[in-house]
Amino acid sequence: MTTPALFSADYPTARRRFRAGAVQLGWLLEAHTIDATTPTGEELAIDVAHSPVIEGHDTLVISSGLHGVEGFFGSAVQLGLLERWASGADATPALNLVLLHALNPFGFAWLRRVNEQNIDLNRNFLLPGESFAGSPEGYAALDRFLNPRTPPSRWEPFLPKALLAIARIGGMPRFKQAVAAGQYDYPEGLFYGGEAPSRAHRILAEHLQRWIGASARVVHLDFHTGLGKPGTWKLLLDYSPTDAQQRCLREWFGAGRFEVAHARGVAYQTRGSLGQWCRGTNSRTDYLYACAEFGTCNPIQVLASLRAENRAHHWCTPEDACTRHARQRLLEVFCPQADQWRKAVLGGAFGIVHSAIDGLTAA
Ligand SMILES: [Zn+2]
Repeated sequence: MTTPALFSADYPTARRRFRAGAVQLGWLLEAHTIDATTPTGEELAIDVAHSPVIEGHDTLVISSGLHGVEGFFGSAVQLGLLERWASGADATPALNLVLLHALNPFGFAWLRRVNEQNIDLNRNFLLPGESFAGSPEGYAALDRFLNPRTPPSRWEPFLPKALLAIARIGGMPRFKQAVAAGQYDYPEGLFYGGEAPSRAHRILAEHLQRWIGASARVVHLDFHTGLGKPGTWKLLLDYSPTDAQQRCLREWFGAGRFEVAHARGVAYQTRGSLGQWCRGTNSRTDYLYACAEFGTCNPIQVLASLRAENRAHHWCTPEDACTRHARQRLLEVFCPQADQWRKAVLGGAFGIVHSAIDGLTAA
């Protein structure tokens, strides 16, 4: 199959293909439904496919769609892998493979980055004892700019407003940190982490341990799109990896290919991320989580489209032309149509997965 064909037109198609791919391989399949449906009334679920357990082997987890609309890409990666293993084009690696499809199925189906409760799931995975409260310094002052209580307008001079907000807060690193670190005070605002563990959080809390089984070592690649130069990728870690893990990252992917969170780089320090939670709740496992982030366009464009879609969601009806327009724009920002981009990101993603497999199986 030519690579762009791995991108599905919508969530139900992606889901069907994912499940069919796992069945073809004879893998175990699970579906964990959430309490919402697609725009056409179909079931929404996190689907999990795992290879037959090989005792004593390491586990590779590959997840998609934590950020809803970004799942078009992650799902395409998973479909491509399943297809290549099923056809014999690539040998199925001697590892325990766990594929988590559409961690935020609602956002995937409705073309939102957030879930059915406006929650950014990558801010919702607070560890037991952490409180779902508070906002980063500066968010309150930015609330009116970030989250206007009105429908989006095409004529609004967004760029000058954004530049002014960035200047007022003291530059881009501070702006990024204030906007995107995760807030728990504005339920209709951007980068909202929720007031309690979401359904996806609870599903993972109940089952992740079982999926990774007794493996002493887990590598978890979580596919995302948005930040970075179009078509390029970086592995982002928002925690301190061990020395041995850093060595693996360098040897498997290359020294300049991963970044430990820092407000000056691509990323920023977040609260409630999936990576921190996976490590915190599996402290006896050597758990190496990386957010594999693939660039689409510049961060101001990303923010503009997120802000417009969030306004449309809260202040227009789902049938309004402004909602349709805002969703389509968000889709293009997180999953560009261009074949050139799609080929580049799939090539990069398969390379990352193969490097991880080679590294894990060589040990
Ligand atoms: Zn993302």
